[in-house]
Amino acid sequence: MAERKNKTCYNCGCTDYKIMHKGVRDNADIDVLQCKKCGLVFLSDNSHIGPDFYENGGMIAGYSLESWINNTKIDDKRRFLFLKNKIKNKVLTDFGCGNAGFLNNAKNVCKKVYGVELQKDLYEYFRSCSLDIFQNISQIPEKSDIITIFHVLEHTKDPVKTLESLKPALSENGRIFVEVPNTKDALISLYKSKKFQDFVFWSCHLYIFDKKTLEQTVKKAGYKIEKFSYIQRYSLMNHLYWILKKKPGGHKVWAKYDFKIINILYSFILKLFGITDTMIVEISPC
Ligand SMILES: [Zn+2]
Repeated sequence: MAERKNKTCYNCGCTDYKIMHKGVRDNADIDVLQCKKCGLVFLSDNSHIGPDFYENGGMIAGYSLESWINNTKIDDKRRFLFLKNKIKNKVLTDFGCGNAGFLNNAKNVCKKVYGVELQKDLYEYFRSCSLDIFQNISQIPEKSDIITIFHVLEHTKDPVKTLESLKPALSENGRIFVEVPNTKDALISLYKSKKFQDFVFWSCHLYIFDKKTLEQTVKKAGYKIEKFSYIQRYSLMNHLYWILKKKPGGHKVWAKYDFKIINILYSFILKLFGITDTMIVEISPC
């Protein structure tokens, strides 16, 4: 058995943990641990994420740019619609902008958009979209009214430091929107789908938060919480497919049964119990 390198909780320093899942989908030697005190979920080892990992596209290895852009279209639109009124005529930076799908939506209503992305081979594509993307947030020539950081924090080795690094780039009265996956996802916490856990736990997700541990992390980084929202990305048919067929993609295979009205109600119930797949927190510096 591989030696467990991470034995103390990043969030609270506690050394008492349970093994939540043996192995992750791309590495049988890395276990998913959960702190018994605060509930933070973290990997038994994160030494595989070196300084060049994201620069060289390690996260999306094997995907073409075209299929990646297609795969994120629904989330890009959802994020845009969620923030549309708040970002109008504002200067916005998307930190860890990936394929810039969100920025390509946001640029139509913002005063100016910027992105921060480590992955080098995307820069030619960014130029073709006339987007100003930088490797480091300190290179952006002006302060931003809004900074978005979607599904990035769980990939960083030091989430508090990552959040702290955004502060100098934020204008006075600026806001940051942090979106991350939720440990309490119904497929894990309610339906306890073993196959879903085999699929979802991944060597790139170094930490998985719930409402409490996310709020503790942002407070530690010197922010106050303006608003917290639970978001459900996947539909009822996706969940039923996991439960009955033990596979992903139910929202596509059973699309004809996936009625919008049912999903609105289903999301409402999941939000009520805090067991959605996703969370967004709006924060500002203390
Ligand atoms: Zn802890």
